Formats: sequence, C-alpha cells, structure tokens
Amino acid sequence: MIRVVVSGASGRMGREVLKTVLQAGDMVLVGAVDVRGEGQDVGSLLGVPETGITLQTALERVLVETSPDVMVDFTTPDAVAENIKVALHHGVRPVVGTTGMSTGELQEIRTLAEQLKLGCVIAPNFAIGAVLMMRFAAEAARYLPHVEIIELHHDQKLDAPSGTALKTAELVAAVRGDIRQGLPAEMEKIPGVRGGAFDGGVRIHSVRLPGLVAHQEVIFGGLGQTLSIRHDSISRESFMPGVLLAIRRVMHLEGVVYGLENLLFE
Ligand code: NAP
Repeated sequence: MIRVVVSGASGRMGREVLKTVLQAGDMVLVGAVDVRGEGQDVGSLLGVPETGITLQTALERVLVETSPDVMVDFTTPDAVAENIKVALHHGVRPVVGTTGMSTGELQEIRTLAEQLKLGCVIAPNFAIGAVLMMRFAAEAARYLPHVEIIELHHDQKLDAPSGTALKTAELVAAVRGDIRQGLPAEMEKIPGVRGGAFDGGVRIHSVRLPGLVAHQEVIFGGLGQTLSIRHDSISRESFMPGVLLAIRRVMHLEGVVYGLENLLFE
C-alpha cells in the first residue's frame, strides 16, 4: 500500500485527489493538509461517511506523524516550492500539479531530489488528452510554424498563462525556430490585446471565465488553411488517471521527472 498525504486538500483539485486516493485499492490516505479547516474530517469535506483522517494545517507535523510515501500537492504558486522541499527533507516523494513555480525554484528542487535520491513528479497537466495535444502541436509546428495559443480557464486561477500553455509554447519554439508573426510595426490600441509572447516568439492568449475548467486551443495558420488542435478538461476527473499513474511511478524514480509525457511515452 502506498501511503499518501494530500496538500491543498480543501481546494478544487485537492478534493478530487482525496476521493481518488480513498478509492484506489493500492493506496491509503494518511493525511490531508490545507491552510483552512483544521480538525474537519475529510469525509465531511467530500460529503461521504467519516474517514478518520482530519484536515491539518502544518505539513511538516503531518509528515512526521504519518510517515507517508508520497505527498500530492495542488496548492498555490507561493506555497508549492516550500512544500516540495519539506517533503523531500522528510524522505517523502512529491507528486506535484501546482503550476506557476519559477525556473529557479524548479532547478533548486531538481538538485535537492538528485542529492537525496528521491523521486519527484511535477506535471503542469495530468490530463492524458492535454499531453497528446501538446505532442501533436509540436509535430504540427514542423510543417505549420505560424501558431498562436489560446488557453481558457476558470476565473479563480491564480497564474497566467497556464503551465500547459507555457509548456506548449516551449515545445513549439524548439521545433519552429525564430519566426515573426504579424507586421513588424504592429500597433496595439489596447495594450496586451495581441497576447503575451513566450521568449519573444509564440503568442499566448489567456481567457478567464466562470464555467470553464481547463481548455486550450493551438491554432496554426498556413497558405489558405488553418489547423486547430483543441483539448477540453470538462471536469477535474480528467486529471485523476495521470495523478494515480504518477503516485505509482514516483515510488521507483530518482530525481525530478517534469511532464507526464515522460511517464507515458518512454
Ligand atoms: P484551489 O481550489 O485554490 O486549491 C488550492 C488549495 O490549496 C486551497 O484550498 C488553498 O487554500 C490551499 N493552500 C494554499 N496554500 C497552502 C499551503 N501552504 N499548504 C496547504 N494548502 C495550501 O486551486 P485548484 O483549482 O485546486 O488548483 C491548485 C493548483 O493546481 C493550481 O496551481 C492549478 O493551476 C493547478 N492545476 C494543475 C492541474 C494539473 O493537471 N497539473 C490541473 C488543475 C489545476 P486557500 O484557498 O485558503 O489559499
């Protein structure tokens, strides 16, 4: 049995992970951490019978008291790097979906996980369809290098653009080279209306609306044609098979694996 602690347990993703871990035959939920709700039984949070696991606010104390194998983190860009470091220092393998970490923080975590010889999976998108969308976009960019990315999320998302859009732009930029789109002296009558340029290149447009979950469209333009590759997460269940895969696989890894594709397409 894999012993799992969920950090960010009261959040939208955290609650979905709690449900998933409670139902997994090879896992046991040993702790749930969030900044609010100390003492509340996880069952009442999910609207199911009591589980005996209560929400706690101090991650380090939970790790010491419950000796988990894995910490799943879906918290906030401000909290995630520290949570990962605390987990690694207690011999706990992190599986991380929180987006918005800086390149410096990611590098520090890579070094720490290597030094401690512990596995860590960090994935900006755990939905298998989204991973395929990114892979297909990178392939299409070889032949249709003019591309823009539109990502659409619920209006409570803290970071923009999404981690998935950044990753897609990085993959596209790696294959299409330095291409300029639009006119050199393009005039924005409303600042930002043409989106943000990743590394001065691929443009990303972020839409935030209630009712959305997580969506992305990558639009390619060529002579007399366009190609759109779109993925829609219509519920947070879409991320759970990827999270389960990462929990199982992180037990056998050393160092950081960044991106679910590295577990799916080895
Ligand atoms: P959310 O509903 O705001 O949940 C985050 C939870 O973490 C909140 O309950 C928050 O409490 C809590 N929290 C904040 N700081 C904490 C800390 N230091 N320790 C423990 N808990 C803490 O957000 P969400 O929609 O679940 O998304 C969470 C993250 O996952 C975001 O970064 C999002 O972009 C990412 N995400 C990733 C994927 C993927 O596939 N990788 C998919 C969806 C979302 P407060 O509300 O009180 O701050």
